[in-house]
Amino acid sequence: MIYLNGEYMPIEEARIPVLDRGFIFGDGVYEVIPVYSRKPFRIEEHLSRLEHSLNGIRLENPHSGEEWKSIIHRLIALNEPEDQSLYLHITRGVAKRDHAFPKGVKPTIFMMSNPLVTPSPQTLESGVSAITAEDNRWLRCDIKAISLLPNVLLRQLAIDAGAAETLLFRENLLTEGAASNIFVVSGNTLLAPPKDNLMLPGITYDVVLELAQGQGMPFEVRRISKEEVCSASELLLTSSTREVTPITLLDGKAVGSGKPGPFFARLHDAYQAFKHAVMRRA
Ligand code: PMP
Repeated sequence: MIYLNGEYMPIEEARIPVLDRGFIFGDGVYEVIPVYSRKPFRIEEHLSRLEHSLNGIRLENPHSGEEWKSIIHRLIALNEPEDQSLYLHITRGVAKRDHAFPKGVKPTIFMMSNPLVTPSPQTLESGVSAITAEDNRWLRCDIKAISLLPNVLLRQLAIDAGAAETLLFRENLLTEGAASNIFVVSGNTLLAPPKDNLMLPGITYDVVLELAQGQGMPFEVRRISKEEVCSASELLLTSSTREVTPITLLDGKAVGSGKPGPFFARLHDAYQAFKHAVMRRA
């Protein structure tokens, strides 16, 4: 079951006019919210990032936080899996094709639920491979825009190379992955690139830094050079659905020992423990 403009229906029944600005211009924003045991994880943080994205494209938030939460809870209840991945999508609505913002048009609001698929034990045991590429996206990567063509092309480079993710660099500095944030272990320190306009402020990224701090793990948030990434002892990718996943092969070369390392093990365990504790309290 999906949600579309105030109604709940089977996805096969959902229809969008071809003049929707999401279809014509990619003019919209989205969120992906993981749901564990029917409880949305970090819902307040997802809703505030949504607000940030809407502000970034100058589209008024069509709902209050309470309204969003009631739609989200209803959609979770209407779908079977205990663990779900909610996709929330807002476009500037349906109007005659013209770049200028249309006046008096209601946004299109769409939400769907898919079963949440987190990394398998085998993936966590062996890690995944990644490649590197120049980050050729726009300069507002902090907006979770539905126009994802550059990310699609960059991610496909990884798929074509038999890898799981593409690590992106601007002028030799790490930004993020094509669909994830990246952490680097250098020496005995966890490094993370700063949240700025060049990367999406990941909800999982924040959780990982909070956990590192809580564990007394040495960490630094700063610019990270490609050389540091290529000589890292560990690389981690994070996202709401991939949680904390180790990268063990980069551009065909082993990362550190070529096996998931101690930073991964600690952060992965801490993430799972945190998730379960939050879900129990929710
Ligand atoms: N960066 C990009 C480009 C992404 O698409 C995503 C999410 N898929 C992330 C980072 C991770 O964000 P989050 O932890 O909120 O899922």
